[in-house]
Amino acid sequence: MTEPFDAVDLIRVKRDNTESLTDEQIDWLVDAYTRGVVADEQMSAMTMAILLNGMTRQEISRWTAAMIRSGERMSFSTLSRPTADKHSTGGVGDKITLPLAPLVAVFDVAVPQLSGRGLGHTGGTLDKLEAIPGWRASLTNAEMMAQLDSVGAVICAAGAGLAPADKKLYALRDVTATVEAIPLIASSIMSKKIAEGTGALVLDVKVGSGAFMKTLDSARELARTMVDLGTDAGVRTVALVTDMSVPLGRTAGNALEVRESLEVLAGGGPADVVDLTVALAVEMLVAADRPVPEADVRAALADGRAMDKWRAMIAAQGGDVDAPLPVAKETETVVAPESGVLTSLDAYAVGVAVRRLGAGRARKEDEVQAAAGIEIHVKPGEEVVAGQPLLTLHTDTPERFARARQALDGGWSVDPAGNGVLGGALAGAAGALASMDLGAGALVGAALASGGSVVLDRIV
Ligand code: URA
Repeated sequence: MTEPFDAVDLIRVKRDNTESLTDEQIDWLVDAYTRGVVADEQMSAMTMAILLNGMTRQEISRWTAAMIRSGERMSFSTLSRPTADKHSTGGVGDKITLPLAPLVAVFDVAVPQLSGRGLGHTGGTLDKLEAIPGWRASLTNAEMMAQLDSVGAVICAAGAGLAPADKKLYALRDVTATVEAIPLIASSIMSKKIAEGTGALVLDVKVGSGAFMKTLDSARELARTMVDLGTDAGVRTVALVTDMSVPLGRTAGNALEVRESLEVLAGGGPADVVDLTVALAVEMLVAADRPVPEADVRAALADGRAMDKWRAMIAAQGGDVDAPLPVAKETETVVAPESGVLTSLDAYAVGVAVRRLGAGRARKEDEVQAAAGIEIHVKPGEEVVAGQPLLTLHTDTPERFARARQALDGGWSVDPAGNGVLGGALAGAAGALASMDLGAGALVGAALASGGSVVLDRIV
């Protein structure tokens, strides 16, 4: 087959940044890369040029459409209910999908939640759910549709047919230091969500040390780009920008996070997890044209309706909802060296420690331990007394403790006078943090300054 373009010419266009790539050039590039005509080294050069020089809105939109066209498109139009999905850009202790999907389904909105596995310091929803004995992540499209019809919620692995161009490109970006390019993150996430066929989408764009985006400005730009892509494709899309400078809730690790999600579904659980779950549920219901007052959403957690949906959703995928969750063979405790106030607990440090304990992967093919992880006894802003446990580390393989502790070195701090980073950030105006490089605790201050919520901004 004669190719209409030469990859080298297109790379030069992006490198020199004097003009935009045309629609035809982008269509060809994505397709030719998927077919293997454009080589990995050529696409590496292109993605680096994109990282350095950016893309116009038209280029991003066309690139996303080309990635969607590389695979199948699903449709939920035969369902009797509207659909709404949520996507988080990833963080530490982010178990929100687990209580959120059944909670939204209570209100007769179907939730087709195609999820991924953890990589690097971030956790993955499928790894968490696989801590439940018998639970199955892989469903056929027909099984997924049947479950959406009967239960109204499904959390499962994305099939290989969805945006195969993204799978190839993401693997390349991972090894060429080009993951962080906003146009590439936005098109990667949105190509999969648009191809999945959801009617409404709520994006949880994380910002802080434990997230891809380290500054509020960059998180807002990513959120804006994705909302525009979704809206242009006819998906009702809204984004919340939320804090990921400290871990969410009081657990990070697979079975530990399932346990905490069950507390939320039983009407309890940590306030930050409950508040974010409810905030996202309210947004999903509005986007699906089934608005429900926040108090009614909270009531569905308190009165057991969300728990009933959870049980049906897990059982439909083979999970034994009454089986005990795995417990780690060994634990070790990190204690406060002195009395005072915990002023920081860095999400990235906790995420790396959790991975080193065996809950995450260093390489894609690694197995994860269901029971490994960290329990967080004290969160920033809370008082501690000398000798009080701050963190409990869990693993089946105790030789991992030393490296996990190393990751936590400098990742938390106790101020004996009760001031420190948290107090300093709180004293400043939240708006002034917008362009700051966010060190540990800075966003906690911004979040608290905006009324104690983990939600920092809303982009529509
Ligand atoms: N998640 C994705 O699916 N793609 C990215 O590029 C980053 C996060």
